[in-house]
Amino acid sequence: MVARSEAKATGALPPADLDPLTGVVARQAFLKRLETRLQADATPRFALLLVGIDDFRAFNDMHGHAEGDLILQHVARRLKDASPRDAVIGRVGGDEFGVLLTSISDPTLVRHVSAAIQSMLSAPYEMAGRRHHVLASVGACVLPAGGDTASDVLAASSLALARAKHDGGRTIRFFKPQMRTDVTTRLSLVQALREAYAQRQFELLYQPQVDLRDGRVLGAEALMRWRHPTLGLLTPAAFIDALAASSVASDVGMWLLHTACAQARAWSLQFGEEAPRVAINLFAAQLAESRLLTEVRHVLRALELPPSLLEIEITETIALQQGDDVSDQLQALRRDGVTLTCDDFGTGYASLSFLKTFPVDRLKIDQSFIRNVVDDGVDAAIVNSVITVGNSLGIGVVAEGVETVGQRDFLLANGCYEAQGYLYGRPMAPDRLTDFLRNQPR
Ligand code: C2E
Ligand code: CA
Ligand code: CA
Repeated sequence: MVARSEAKATGALPPADLDPLTGVVARQAFLKRLETRLQADATPRFALLLVGIDDFRAFNDMHGHAEGDLILQHVARRLKDASPRDAVIGRVGGDEFGVLLTSISDPTLVRHVSAAIQSMLSAPYEMAGRRHHVLASVGACVLPAGGDTASDVLAASSLALARAKHDGGRTIRFFKPQMRTDVTTRLSLVQALREAYAQRQFELLYQPQVDLRDGRVLGAEALMRWRHPTLGLLTPAAFIDALAASSVASDVGMWLLHTACAQARAWSLQFGEEAPRVAINLFAAQLAESRLLTEVRHVLRALELPPSLLEIEITETIALQQGDDVSDQLQALRRDGVTLTCDDFGTGYASLSFLKTFPVDRLKIDQSFIRNVVDDGVDAAIVNSVITVGNSLGIGVVAEGVETVGQRDFLLANGCYEAQGYLYGRPMAPDRLTDFLRNQPR
């Protein structure tokens, strides 16, 4: 299709109604167009496509925001070319574009337009010698399903887009009312989590981290459990994603910090020099708060816990979503003597460059690499290269998910001397770890 002039594509909108970066209709003006179209008929028949770029955040992390902006400009241009002439194209979110198909309501046609858009967007982007590929997902809402107001219809397409991404991306999903109930279910889980927090149903278990050479416990990772009144003890798989995404996360995170530090203090009183360092996992929400640094310092001081007995585990994905301020706070904690560990190392997007922008004290090799390390040459090579990176940067390396003697021997033979896994102990109640510590070799 031939590219149309800006005026035709946007109906000669005043500049304020245009998105300054991409030149398509800006969000508010787009919603207004949508509203007008909704009110034009008693029973509106048209469709809204919400086009989102798959993993755009990762693209930005990897190539920088300037490059990301360029991609968005190209995408906007291609969207205009791929859409029917009377379509209205707007930028409704960072990497989300709305395509208002003002006169199409036949799902087959909608699918057809969507396929054309996706195929056009997936062609390589050549930019001053650089070549990028991006893929797009589409959430479609065919009226009259979706709602009576512009924001309802946009929300409906958002649900469909979320489903398309959830199903692996580069695909289209149509809004169905059922999608709303799925979210409602999620909302009631969040309610239950808030309740659980108020009722003190969360617990921490501790899993030992040992020195592979002599089996002595060096540290313990605090892992959360939910003692559900009717369902019993739940592992994080059942609730951690919902918790992390909810507003309860920051309260639970603070509770977790206090509880783990109090336990670390108890062990330090009981075991002195032999006390294990206690590791906690942070939620993204905790990092986003500027009070993290003050809160951690406050807890350490209030409990008289030496900073060297606290370890903070953070995944690179979570760390990279944060701004400079977070990195500054974490680096300040490191200077205080708190250990900072990169969790699940190797599974993120930018492991090696991550270490440059985000110095840590330890790397935790993800258990997915340990699982088959004895038989799988690729896993073995990955584990070895993480060990090498750790050694050459002079930072510790700990392996996670060690279940067999074979895995232990592999690690020992290749220069990794610390591990956590069922071979040494499952996550256990603090009293059990106390016994464990009492009975360890001297
Ligand atoms: P993670 O931080 O990677 O924690 C390690 C997980 O691996 C734990 O699962 C642990 O029980 C399990 N594991 C340890 N050794 C072995 C082994 O030898 N074999 C196998 N198959 N698994 C092993 P868990 O406790 O179910 O926790 C799962 C995830 O939930 C954690 O992954 C972490 O991402 C999240 N999580 C758990 N507790 C907390 C918490 O207090 N705060 C935050 N923010 N996240 C938490
Ligand atoms: Ca962890
Ligand atoms: Ca991990």
